[in-house]
Amino acid sequence: MIKVGLTGGIGSGKSTVTGLLLAHGIPVVDADQIARDIVEPGQPALQELAEAFGPDIIRADGSLDRAGLAAKAFVDAEHTALLNSITHPRIAEETARRFAAAEEAGETAIVYDMPLLVDKGLDRQMDLVVVIDVDAEERVRRLVDKRGLAEMDVRRRIDAQVPDDIRRVAADVLIDNNGPLEALAPQVDELVEEIRRRSQA
Ligand code: ADP
Repeated sequence: MIKVGLTGGIGSGKSTVTGLLLAHGIPVVDADQIARDIVEPGQPALQELAEAFGPDIIRADGSLDRAGLAAKAFVDAEHTALLNSITHPRIAEETARRFAAAEEAGETAIVYDMPLLVDKGLDRQMDLVVVIDVDAEERVRRLVDKRGLAEMDVRRRIDAQVPDDIRRVAADVLIDNNGPLEALAPQVDELVEEIRRRSQA
């Protein structure tokens, strides 16, 4: 089974591309989704977070109050490290479990949708690295106009990620999503061909 890393800055179109890949029957492991799943009610990480940061990070309905946790965890490096020591091992374990499940199911390729693939050096563990490239100003426009995010928040998050030129250097396949959606689909079709070629080789 070949591992295909898919990455790009916030708002570059990762979710849009994974939607197209899934429609082609290519399985996707979604890193953001795993990060959410491991803190669902009943998961051990949620209880540990409450023990570390206080019970009020859990809402009345039992779900995690993300903003409340962020306010307590991102105050300094020590608290951030405490948060990471609770969540990271769970995320790693669950990610490995999903890769293994795909392999056991007989999949010949899996796409790992991971915003911080290059930031964390995980691109080196992939057989193929796909980077979606969109000018940062255009990403800000799309996220503000289409997803209703606050502009300052988007810019702060872009600044916290690895610079676009560094990410581009890591790419085996570069998808240019600066244009309209109609220009994206044929590039994904080509990517699917490339994945199928490589997984049969
Ligand atoms: P990511 O998952 O990388 O954060 P999304 O796939 O959610 O990015 O895309 C960000 C926003 O931009 C979404 O609202 C999406 O519908 C929109 N979008 C994606 N590609 C294009 C495009 N080529 N033209 C216009 N809007 C786009």
